[in-house]
Amino acid sequence: MPTSPITTEASAPTAPSLASASGVLTIDLGAIAENYRRLRKAFQEKPLAAVVKADAYGLGMAEVAPVLVKQGARSVFVAQLEEAIALRPVLDACHPAVSLYVLNGLMPGTEAAFIDNNILPVLNSLGEIDAWSRAAVERDRVLPAAIQLDSGMNRLGLPEAETSQLREAPERLQGIAPTCFMSHLACADDPQHPQNAEQLAAFHAARRGLPKAPASLCNSSGIFLGPDYHFDLGRPGAAVYGVNPTPAAPSPVLAVVRLQARILQVRAIDAPQSVGYGATHRATGPARIATVAAGYADGYLRSISGRGRAWVDGREVPVVGRISMDLLALDVTEVAPGAACPGQMVDLLGPQHGVDALAQEAGTIGYEILTALGRRYHRTYLG
Ligand SMILES: *Cc1c(COP(=O)(O)O)cnc(C)c1O
Repeated sequence: MPTSPITTEASAPTAPSLASASGVLTIDLGAIAENYRRLRKAFQEKPLAAVVKADAYGLGMAEVAPVLVKQGARSVFVAQLEEAIALRPVLDACHPAVSLYVLNGLMPGTEAAFIDNNILPVLNSLGEIDAWSRAAVERDRVLPAAIQLDSGMNRLGLPEAETSQLREAPERLQGIAPTCFMSHLACADDPQHPQNAEQLAAFHAARRGLPKAPASLCNSSGIFLGPDYHFDLGRPGAAVYGVNPTPAAPSPVLAVVRLQARILQVRAIDAPQSVGYGATHRATGPARIATVAAGYADGYLRSISGRGRAWVDGREVPVVGRISMDLLALDVTEVAPGAACPGQMVDLLGPQHGVDALAQEAGTIGYEILTALGRRYHRTYLG
């Protein structure tokens, strides 16, 4: 008789229920779908991929990817193989033919994991091309892959010298069916930047003499540089999730996230008392301070200290003093006492104060605000 095995529970913290949650993150899947449609319209209704790396920019790839597949995405990009392995069954449950790509490329020894899981690499160097070709020849198969050509960002992709070598030795692509030649723009969020046109020209030049395959250049911001930049496939990420892809102009996309956190205590103070670590905020007179259950461990970045704004009962109030790991403080002197009391939720992110505004207060970009959003919030998906 087998004895009962000793089992251990995984120690991952479970997401809190709504009733006990210190904070609630609401993710509007309807807004994600609408943003995707708006971007496709700006892309002249040509195909758009879905970029869901980093757990769909922190919003949950298992929830987000099916929405984008339903909107028509047939190419999906993540950054890492592990992300792709987790996502593959989710995609298979949505649609029989979605290509799933790993942007970070083919690490040595991972060929079998790609092939067995029906995942495609973005080949970023001649070495990766050689390895993928070897894997194809060994298996007597044709293996699809995207190939990234560096057009001036100097991050990932074949540098110009390697692209010329490939042009002169096309047999290095033996067994590979290129699904797409892609490149990435470094300055697309600044339409005046001269590097945009330089990269566009470099991408045209790089593709010359290579096999025919669809081309892809645009991230979210690139879409708004106009049709010259569009090619055959767009790869928007951030704008789908509500980050303004045109920072110098009003946002063409809807807000997607709302973040609320609970007031734990409200106290009355008077000058010369101070609030929080480092005593950086001092009362100049009688004030009421609300301590709220969100901090830098939840992605409410410490750099927001002394600069943030929150909404209590529809009223804007300042974040005061330093952000702690689990807590922040609001000056609620101007809010009616009944509206700022323990247990009450305050708005930290929402339509009146979006990811771009909070990012500005934090000295960063909306991308970092989203991907930093903590795991301790109760998550609610709308739509
Ligand atoms: C992240 C990424 C994208 C999406 O960029 P956004 O600016 O979020 O739209 C597209 N292409 C590549 C290669 C990326 O790494």
